Order: sequence, then structure tokens, then C-alpha cells
Amino acid sequence: MAKKPKPFRISRKVGKFHAERRLLLLAMLGILAYSGYIWVEAHPEHNPSAPLDLRHPVGMATATKLVALKDDVPECRAVIDRSEVGYAVLDPTGEGPCARPDRTRLTDYPFAPNSPPMTCPVAAAMELWRTKTVEPAALDIFASEIARIEHLGVYSCRRLYGRSEGAWSEHATGNAIDISAFVLEDGRRISLISDWNGDADEARFLRQVRDGACGVFATVLSPDYNEAHADHFHFDQDGRWTGVCR
Ligand SMILES: [Zn+2]
Repeated sequence: MAKKPKPFRISRKVGKFHAERRLLLLAMLGILAYSGYIWVEAHPEHNPSAPLDLRHPVGMATATKLVALKDDVPECRAVIDRSEVGYAVLDPTGEGPCARPDRTRLTDYPFAPNSPPMTCPVAAAMELWRTKTVEPAALDIFASEIARIEHLGVYSCRRLYGRSEGAWSEHATGNAIDISAFVLEDGRRISLISDWNGDADEARFLRQVRDGACGVFATVLSPDYNEAHADHFHFDQDGRWTGVCR
């Protein structure tokens, strides 16, 4: 007669060992979750539910929060208020594809030759770009502050590349800006048309500020993109946020 197999039984000692390991594992998971929570709380730039403050570093959650501002002008103005950025609100103007319901002018920004009205999401991104990328890059590479950021304009009621048909440019609603040069406190002027090529400090600076713009603008076009952008960076806050960075 075949021997009946012995039923498998965990001894009390082994069972206790498993229970202790399970408890230890649970405690470790708890500690891990808690430290994750503490870390996210201390890094609002990585926390999708923390209110956006432009004084915080650019983090994993920054771009998503900037996109959300596109359709929420009051929230965008709350962000620049909270971030203590100087600005003025101008009356809406224009109509149809060139209507500009949101005209926000940065009042303490080193723009030259003037500070043009733009959409609030572009203004918020310009502030982040200046403080988190342009100024640190100028200090790091040239040991100088930024005196002026030169632009070629914001608003232009036209279709892409001035064509007679096709998609409207983000410039038509003031949701884009073209940046052409930087002037340092020490008097040096770095322009895209003269300094983009080569491997001098000026070219390194321009690439660094282009790359930094990619984290805060939906579209970034540089001289690398095409001949039409040989003398300027085009930045816009296209609501699709396709993350174009060229
Ligand atoms: Zn442009």
C-alpha cells in the first residue's frame, strides 16, 4: 500500500519568522512612503498639487502647471502675484484670430527696447527663464549680471511665416516672443546673429539659455531650426504644449 504523503505544515517557529518579516517589510514600506511624502512636500517644483511659485526651481511638475495657465488667466495672474513679479494688466484689444483678451506687461523686466504686453503664460515663463537660466548662465560664464534682454516683438497679426493662408502664428495673440540679444552689466552684447556659431563663451551661453527655455516654453525655435530664426529665439506658449525644442 502506498504511503500517504505527510501534510505540509509550517512549524510555529517558521510561521513566526514569516510574520516578523512581513511586519518589517510593511514598516519599511511605510517609512519609504513617508519619506517620499516629506521629500515632495519640500520640493513643490516636483509636486503636481503644490501651487506654482515662479521663485521655486524648475522641476518635474513645472511644465504641467505652466500649461494649465494657458486657459486660466485669473490663475496665471494669481501665480505672478504670489511670485511677487511686477506686472500691469492692459485692456483687451483686437478681434477674430488676433483678439488679445490677455495683455500682461512685465514692469520690472530688463526688456529692451521696451516691455511689450504679452499673454500672462508667456510672461510667467519669461520670468522663470530669466531667473532660473539666463541670469545663472551669465554669472557662470561671464561673471556678470544681465542688464538687458533685447526682443524683436511679441504681437503681430499674421499667419505662420506671414503666409496668406494656413495656421495663425502665436504672435497673432501676443502668445509668443522673439529674443535677439543679451547685454551684460559689464557692457558686453551677445547677439544670436553674431555669436550663435563657434565654440566661444558667447555661443555656449546662447545654447545654454536656449536649452533652459525648453523646460518652460511649449515651443522653442533657435538658429538650429532654420534660416528664418538665424537672428532670434522664438518662444511661445502654444496650448498643445508639443514640447518643440529646436
Ligand atoms: Zn516668433
